[in-house]
Amino acid sequence: MVVTRFAPSPNGPLHLGHAYSAIVAHDLALSGGGRFLLRIEDIDGGRSREDLAQQFRDDLAWLGLAWEEMPPQSSRVDEYEVAAATLKAMGLLYPCQCTRAQLAGSVYSGRCKANPPPPGTAVAWRLDMAAAMARSGPLSWVDELAGIQLARPDLGGDVVLVRKDADTPASYHLAVTLDDAADGVTLVTRGADLFAASHIHRLLQDLLGLPVPRWHHHALLLDAEGRKLAKRRNSPALVDRRLGGEDGLVLADQLRRGQLPGGIMLSAGLRDAP
Ligand code: GLU
Repeated sequence: MVVTRFAPSPNGPLHLGHAYSAIVAHDLALSGGGRFLLRIEDIDGGRSREDLAQQFRDDLAWLGLAWEEMPPQSSRVDEYEVAAATLKAMGLLYPCQCTRAQLAGSVYSGRCKANPPPPGTAVAWRLDMAAAMARSGPLSWVDELAGIQLARPDLGGDVVLVRKDADTPASYHLAVTLDDAADGVTLVTRGADLFAASHIHRLLQDLLGLPVPRWHHHALLLDAEGRKLAKRRNSPALVDRRLGGEDGLVLADQLRRGQLPGGIMLSAGLRDAP
C-alpha cells in the first residue's frame, strides 16, 4: 500500500506551493488505494506556533483533502535522542561548536573534527560523512521521476544531526528520516529543491536499520522571475484566499490541471536537482 505524507513546519502560513505539494502527496496515495498522512514538523524551537497547525488543517480541508494525522515531532524527542546515541556509539558523530557566522559557504569544512571543542562548550553533533559512508558502502535509492540514484550524501558535507539548542534536539535530516520510518511512509514526496536531502536520508536509513521508501520529488511553483514561491514575497497565504471567500475546491482542481494563477509557473521538475 502506498503511504505518503505532507509535513509542513508551522512557522508561517501555507501558500500555493504548499497546496500543490499536499495535493501531489494526497493524489499519489489515493490513486494507489493508499493512505495520506499529515505530520506537523514543530521542533523548530521558538518559531513553531500551534495556532498555525490548526490553520493548516483548515486550509487542507478547504482544498478538499482528507488525511490521517500522525503525532507531531515534538512528541518524538525521545526517539531522536535514542537514534543520536546509537550513532554516537557507532563513532559516527563528532561535536562542533562553530557558530553560523563562522561557517562561510554551505558545505562544512570539518574544522571541529580536527580541533575538538573543549569540554563544557555548547555543541552541535555532526555526522562524520567519510566514516559513515565507509561503513555503509555504496547505496542507491529510487525517485519515481528521476530514476535510480547512487546516493551522494557527501555533497552535503558533515551535516548537523543534533542541534546546539537544547529545545530543538534533532536536525531536520535526523527527525524527518525517523518520522517517515515511524509513520510507515512508503513514498516520500517533497519539492525538487529538497532532492539533495534525500541522499542524506538514504544514508541515515542504512545506518539506523530503517526501511527504505521510494521518493517523488515534484516540480516547484515559481514566480515570473523564476523564484520559488515564498510566503512573504510573492504568494498570498492560503488562509487569506480562504477567508477572502475563494473556492478551495476550484483552486485544487486548477493546481491539478496546471492552470496556475497569473505570473506563476511550474518548474521543469528535476531540472535543477543535483
Ligand atoms: N517541514 C519541511 C518543510 O516544510 C518538510 C519537508 C519534507 O517533506 O521533508 O519544508
